[in-house]
Amino acid sequence: MEREIIKTSKKEIVDYWFSKVDESGLSVDAAEAHERCWRCGCERSLERCHIIPASLGGEDKPSNLVLLCRRCHLENPNVLDPEIMWDWLRAYGTALYDTFWILQGAKEYEFIYHKSLAEELKVRDIDDMDKFNKIVAEELQNTTFHYGHPYLNSGTLAGVLRIALKKYTRE
Ligand SMILES: [Zn+2]
Repeated sequence: MEREIIKTSKKEIVDYWFSKVDESGLSVDAAEAHERCWRCGCERSLERCHIIPASLGGEDKPSNLVLLCRRCHLENPNVLDPEIMWDWLRAYGTALYDTFWILQGAKEYEFIYHKSLAEELKVRDIDDMDKFNKIVAEELQNTTFHYGHPYLNSGTLAGVLRIALKKYTRE
């Protein structure tokens, strides 16, 4: 797919949407919408992302654009119905900044091991969360990412949580 030049500025996009959208339930609020990704809420350099893709006739105007980080831009829905983008953004809405990806790791954990992280902490009698978080932080040092994708994917994050659970009970 050819990358076309987008003329609409990031500021125009923020001004347009955050004067009309209900920001509760989104990962960003108006004050940070120019510097944090609208899906994951992380502070990253942001890309202008079409709601209706340009290749499907989507226009270069604020009402057809949102701001996403590179990673989220690769995953956003590319369809003709503009409501789908907002369904997607809202479904991933995260209340606290910088917790988004570890939450995705926890969801992946539950998918793989059929138990939520909360259940695991309970059945394993893990009550010292400082100790657990410290092990997670240590184990995050022993991970890596794919070339060109400078972030930990959810499989890696789920793996780190599993390793930390195992390690906690051994120590
Ligand atoms: Zn993002």
